[in-house]
Amino acid sequence: MSAWSILYRGPLSSCNYSCNYCPFAKTTNTRAELEDDARKLARFVAWVGGRSESIRVLFTPWGEALFHRSYQEAMVRLSHLPNVRRVAIQTNLSGPLDWLESCQREHVGLWATYHPTQTSRPRFLAQCQKLDRLGIRHSVGVVGFKEQFPEVLALRRELNPETYLWINATKHAPDYYSAQDLERFSAVDPLFTLNAVRHESQGKACRAGASAFSVDGDGAMRRCHFIKPLIGNIYEAGFESALRERPCTNETCGCHIGYVHLDVLNLYAVFGEGVMERIPATPIWQG
Ligand code: SF4
Ligand code: SF4
Repeated sequence: MSAWSILYRGPLSSCNYSCNYCPFAKTTNTRAELEDDARKLARFVAWVGGRSESIRVLFTPWGEALFHRSYQEAMVRLSHLPNVRRVAIQTNLSGPLDWLESCQREHVGLWATYHPTQTSRPRFLAQCQKLDRLGIRHSVGVVGFKEQFPEVLALRRELNPETYLWINATKHAPDYYSAQDLERFSAVDPLFTLNAVRHESQGKACRAGASAFSVDGDGAMRRCHFIKPLIGNIYEAGFESALRERPCTNETCGCHIGYVHLDVLNLYAVFGEGVMERIPATPIWQG
């Protein structure tokens, strides 16, 4: 049976960092909002536990979620469920990590982003080393600003050679990268050029909407984070009928969490079971 890959994004939107390039609206959550988010998260976790399908989950919060006990507990609980193949989360890795000891570790993955304007390299690397000691799979990434290239190189040099370092291309200005920039970033992340373009996707087959879909705190389903119309609700009977192959309706797809599902790119062959936490199945990088 093929696995469902579910991207969950609840209402939580607060973050302890304030990156000036943050794509999300940074807000402060009230205690009531956090409680509401935690309730919705617990409902989602219970729903996963009640399913018979094999499921991978990637939490893609608007802000930083791992500070909150509700997300730590959700990760632990999901990691122990027999039908959960992987539970992963996007995080800035600034929070406590000891709770990961309670997880079924082989089912957990972290997608950790380094934000050099918000933390120091030694502090971030210390967190990565803690993950190594705990035996938690993780990828590490940065935004590929040209002026940050020396910092990217230093991070690569000091990071565990076995850890994949991805670089997200900034797409704020066309032709931002010269051929030489593409070459030097690609020397660190061989998949960088794939991320540096928006892929023409309209009319093309994509797993998003079939075996991959996104879910919000109320259970509303979208085929992906980038196509807004709803296709169903996981808390309503018969929602499975919404899951079927259909061509992409957007002109392009430019974000890893989207185009990784685009059939023509064949990236499930590259990432295998590491598709949620963005770790290629076999090392394609030079540590
Ligand atoms: S860590 Fe992520 S969510 Fe938080 S401000 Fe930076 S980019 Fe935004
Ligand atoms: S190609 Fe991207 S935008 Fe289109 S359906 Fe797939 S994930 Fe969504």
